[in-house]
Formats: sequence, C-alpha cells, structure tokens
Amino acid sequence: MSQDGATATGVAPGTGTATATAAAGVGQRTEPQPPATRPSSSTIRGNVNSNNNNSSGSKNGQGNENGAVVLPPSSQVFPAYTAHRLRLNPNADHKPDSYEDMQLVFSPLLFSSLERYLPSTLLKSPRESKFHYMNQILLQYSTESERTRVQKHREYRQKIISNYQPLHRELYTMHASNFFVPSFIKAVNENTEESLRNIMSEPSPGIFAFEMLQPRFCEMLLAEVENFEKWVHETKFRIMRPNTMNKYGAVLDDFGMETMLDKLMEEFIRPMSRVFFPEVGGSTLDTHHGFVVEYGMDRDVDLGFHVDDSEVTLNVCLGKQFSGGELFFRGVRCEKHVNSETQPEEILDYSHVPGCAVLHRGRHRHGARATTSGHRINLLLWCRSSVFRELRKYQKDFSAWCTQCQREKKERQRQSVAATKLELLRREGAAAS
Ligand SMILES: [Zn+2]
Repeated sequence: MSQDGATATGVAPGTGTATATAAAGVGQRTEPQPPATRPSSSTIRGNVNSNNNNSSGSKNGQGNENGAVVLPPSSQVFPAYTAHRLRLNPNADHKPDSYEDMQLVFSPLLFSSLERYLPSTLLKSPRESKFHYMNQILLQYSTESERTRVQKHREYRQKIISNYQPLHRELYTMHASNFFVPSFIKAVNENTEESLRNIMSEPSPGIFAFEMLQPRFCEMLLAEVENFEKWVHETKFRIMRPNTMNKYGAVLDDFGMETMLDKLMEEFIRPMSRVFFPEVGGSTLDTHHGFVVEYGMDRDVDLGFHVDDSEVTLNVCLGKQFSGGELFFRGVRCEKHVNSETQPEEILDYSHVPGCAVLHRGRHRHGARATTSGHRINLLLWCRSSVFRELRKYQKDFSAWCTQCQREKKERQRQSVAATKLELLRREGAAAS
C-alpha cells in the first residue's frame, strides 16, 4: 500500500478537487489497514473511489435544487417540456442529431441518446428545440454543485488534451485486431458462454482470467503513459491520480482515451459481463473509469484490501519485468458485509502475467502484495451500471451476489425447516399419545 493510511484517503495530492468520496455515494472514506499479511482478517472501511469521479452517478447531499431551475427567457419560445411526454422505449429507427459542436453542461452523447426517447411530434423539430426540451429535463435531475464539478472536470480534460502531444495516435481509436490476441476477439464475437469459457480459466468462483492484449499494444501503451508522465513532469501540470488509493498512475480518460475505452467496455467487456455477472448489472454497464497504476519500490508498493467503485473490473497486466505483486481475492461482499470473515474456499492468490486479464465483480474484495523488484504496470477499467446503482438503493437482500447474504439466507431457511420438522414431530407425538 501507499506509505501511510492517512494520505491514501480522500483526494489526490494537490488536485484540490474534494469531490471523490462525497459524490461516489457509497463508502465515505477509504482507510486501508496496515500491510495485509493476513488479508482475511484486515478491515475494509469503505470503497476505493475514483478521484476524477466522472460517472459515479449518484446525487450527493449538496442540497436539492430540483425544480428551482430558472430558465433563460429565450426558452419561453420553445415548447414547454410539460406539454410532451417521453416515450417509454427508445425509437430504435431514429438517427439522433449530433450535439458534439455545442458547448453544453451535459455530455453531448447524453443528448443524442435521450433524443431516441422524444415523442414523435418533437423529433422533426429543429435541433435547438429538441436541445431545449431535453436540457430542461436533465436540469431537473442534477444539482448545481454536480454540474459545476462536471464542468470543472471537463475543462481540466480539455486543458490536457489541447496541450499534450500523444506518442502513439493509433492507441486512441479502437482497432481490435491490433490490440487484442485473436482468441479473445473470436470468443467475444461468437458471444456464447461456451466460446468465452474456452479462452478462460476461473481459478475461484467469479474470477475469470484470460489472455487478452498483444505484446506490441502493451509496449505502446506503456510508452504512451511514460510519455504522458514526462509531459506532466516537464510542464508541472497538476494531474488527478486514478483513485483514492494510488499515488502513482494516470487516468487514461483524462488524456484522450475515453472514446476508445468506451468501445472496449461496450464491445468486449459488456458482452462478457452479460454472461458472467448479470446479477450486478453486467448487461447494462454504461460508464467507465479507465486508468493505469504503477507499482515498484519507487512507486506505490502494494495495494491494501479493498473493493472497487465498479460493478465489473477489468485488470490487465501490461508489464514490465517484476517480481512479487500477486493479487489476492477474498470473496464478494455487499456494503453491510464488507468486513465479514473470509471462508476457506474464497481465498485466492493470483500471479499476473503481462498481456493477461482478470475480470471480476467490483465488490470482490481484493488487494495486491508488494512488488518487490522491477515495475508492474496494470490497466484498469472500472465498469459501472447506472441502472444497477439506482435499483440497489431500494434493495436489502443481496444474496444474488454477496456470499455472506447467501450464507445467512441459507441459515434462515435451515432454521425454518428445522422448526417446522420439530413442530410436526410434536404434533405426531401429541396425536399418538
Ligand atoms: Zn451481504
């Protein structure tokens, strides 16, 4: 883990954006415990959250300005949003306008996807009318502070992207046959459980390991990250680190790889998660946080026991030469049971190999042991489902995925059966006498 627990909490050093924990909605602080020699007995006090927090998707308690939005007078000429209703299902045939050229508070993509839900009467309207209608809806669902945060983060990204010169431009657009090994592409294209299982091992339930990246891609990405770090160092640009637990590493989304990584999630990780993690929103993953982390004696050394702020996590080893750095996994837990005991069958220690990926639920408790020599650099993609997060707010029983909830449910059932048996025996006894 990083040198001391106190600095590993909250905010990346020097970024001055104290938004990570508050906006992530769950787990207030990440407080990694002393080196996890026996991870099964160490404690998790929260989740590790992303610092840039581009998409944690929850309303934080910053006061509710819903309904108090004052619209500019110009909006009066557009149809009032109350005059129309959105469709229940998207219009799949409709080709939405692009909003990329507009300076917007919300993502242009959000407008394009929402457009499919517009009533048919509005679809033929000019783009500006549609925009105003949708903007009114969206404003109702976000707070002022959230919009300010998003806007600031967008400016931060824009500043990097307009100043940083990429080393390998080909990394910034998805090119599957250049990035991935053929077996991986074939398995995902066939898109069946059987084809996926053929390329995977499952060393412990819910943890899937498979060969994924081509060596050349790993080398290029490593060089790109190095080039970015060099630029950061030379320009003294104050960057946000990937999450509350890593002091080294970089957010790939912040320097131009967001679109490429979105494709990686949509075309590769979501199809796999639909098969293996449907109960945690695997088929509705819709946002991601993509970053690299660096371990070594002069970097982060190890990573304490934690859960990720994701539904599904992809963790790929990029290299380089290293020893140590094994991942350890200790079972899937809901928020309430995050510190409950590890069962013997949940213990897995796993050694990562360059090019190979591990796919697991974000709530699968894990950590990484010390990288004792060399440098270990990993690509992480935290995939999230806004639908799953919304539904989870109204649920109490997580036995579909939390193994502790499962055990407690079974125990309740066992007790109830035993009580029924006892009652029947008592009645039989009473009838016989
Ligand atoms: Zn539970």
